[in-house]
Amino acid sequence: MGSAVQQLFPGTKISIGPAIKDGFYYDFDKETPFIPEDLKKIEKKMWNIINKKTCFERIEISKDKAKEIFKEKDEPYKLELLDEIPDEKVSLYKTGDFVDLCRGPHIENADDIKAFKLLSIAGAYWRGDEKNKMLQRIYGTAWYTKEELDEYVNKLAEAKKRDHRKLGKELDLYSIHEEAGAGLVFWHPKGAMIRRVIEDFWYKEHMQRGYQFVNIPHISNINLWKTSGHLDFYKENMYSPMEIDKQDYIIKPMNCPGHILIYKTNLHSYKELPIRYAELGTVYRYEKSGVLHGMLRVRGFTQDDAHIFCAPNQLKNEIKEVIELVDYMMKTFGFEYEVFLSTRDKSNKFAGSIEDWEKATGTLEAVLKEKNIKYEVEEGEAVFYGPKIDVKMKDSLDRLWQGPTVQFDFNLPRRFNVTYIGEDGKEHYVLMVHRTVLGSMERFVGTLIEHYGGAFPIWLAPVQVKILTIKKGNALYAKEMQSLLKAEQIRAELDCRDEKIGLKIRESELDKIPYMLIIGDREVEEKVIAVRKHGNRDCAGMDIKQFIDRISKQIESRK
Ligand code: ZN
Repeated sequence: MGSAVQQLFPGTKISIGPAIKDGFYYDFDKETPFIPEDLKKIEKKMWNIINKKTCFERIEISKDKAKEIFKEKDEPYKLELLDEIPDEKVSLYKTGDFVDLCRGPHIENADDIKAFKLLSIAGAYWRGDEKNKMLQRIYGTAWYTKEELDEYVNKLAEAKKRDHRKLGKELDLYSIHEEAGAGLVFWHPKGAMIRRVIEDFWYKEHMQRGYQFVNIPHISNINLWKTSGHLDFYKENMYSPMEIDKQDYIIKPMNCPGHILIYKTNLHSYKELPIRYAELGTVYRYEKSGVLHGMLRVRGFTQDDAHIFCAPNQLKNEIKEVIELVDYMMKTFGFEYEVFLSTRDKSNKFAGSIEDWEKATGTLEAVLKEKNIKYEVEEGEAVFYGPKIDVKMKDSLDRLWQGPTVQFDFNLPRRFNVTYIGEDGKEHYVLMVHRTVLGSMERFVGTLIEHYGGAFPIWLAPVQVKILTIKKGNALYAKEMQSLLKAEQIRAELDCRDEKIGLKIRESELDKIPYMLIIGDREVEEKVIAVRKHGNRDCAGMDIKQFIDRISKQIESRK
């Protein structure tokens, strides 16, 4: 690509051009910006080079010699890079007249390239520093076969179609308002309905598993955050204090201290443990405006949080049950997942003793092994207060998303003196586990929108059934059908507008509603309904009772 660009646009300077996941990019310094049509021209020139079976030749020379070459070629970025290489010898690669500084390795012949495509143009500061000149980056992808390339390009197009910011608007699920502030999500009725269904499911599952629900205030005295240590190690993510009665208050970035205060209102014997406090707790954290992204990266969000207070001999079982719940949640929503175990950063300060850490890490690992869950160890990636398990959800396009997490904490029990009375009659620190099994409602629903491409399974769909009338005279019977559905808690909407049935069907299809019931004179006369499934052109005639029976089973099974 570098060679093609310099042939087509003489005077363009090259800078860096690394391989990245699924492809490559190259940053160029060119007087006028590239336009999308240029990509086609560059691709054509690249095929030209490939078809000539041009070789890639590796040249090892002294740094001074290399400097001479790039001085002659007037490549200032290469000279700057060369200045920073400590070695005396460097390697260049030459293809035709084109030479670049490169560590290699390279393919031997351009003819090895069987399938590629240039994807996009973007601005990029030299060395990622906004004080430097803005260069122009061209992204591309390369594959061994045309089939692999096509599959990849299709996936990219599909991901674009499924972007939750686009679908969120089209399906009227949520909005973000400049006038209200960046990174703050407003849930519309349909989005809020999806969230409500997930929350109901979440409450039910937690109740069955012995969690107790708590609720805490959104603001609290700054002293609480001094005790917790957040003011020391989490300050850059917290919002400025507000004054109430000459005292500073802070809006919570986490729920943990609040749950600890509730635990501490009583003395607890080992016989009462484990105690599991759960809350869909809303927190506010500062994120730089540049990283905010729809529902996935926000400044206010609701964690499906819980804190487990237990004794050492209960720990393994608690972790096991959390992992089982995570697995159940992931399967229910159709996610595969990957598991990462973060261990102690040996060079940094950490809370608790080395022995504590080894025990805790060992317990996490033992559970993963016992459950036959494959995991990757991320050495030194743990936060200072304890080891953790992170779960990344793999969506229908094989993309990974940050999801549930299970974290140990040696820090807060000591800072807040959170204890229990053991069998020996003495006071011991509790073991504390922070965990989410979805992540946050915002990120989880945002991920679900992309995962399902907006076509939610019937148990989650904000509108499950849409009843469409063909003629004005069908409205009474249609209303009757709606009441029957509503009586069974089925979310049914009615469209009796005096519009063509074709238009009504098209709109329901665009809203991705799982089922349409089409009501015309025949249905009214024969006391039946015509059922049309989303994405399916066929209609099936049936009795309303039969239909209710069928979809109720489907809703109940969460399929
Ligand atoms: Zn916590």
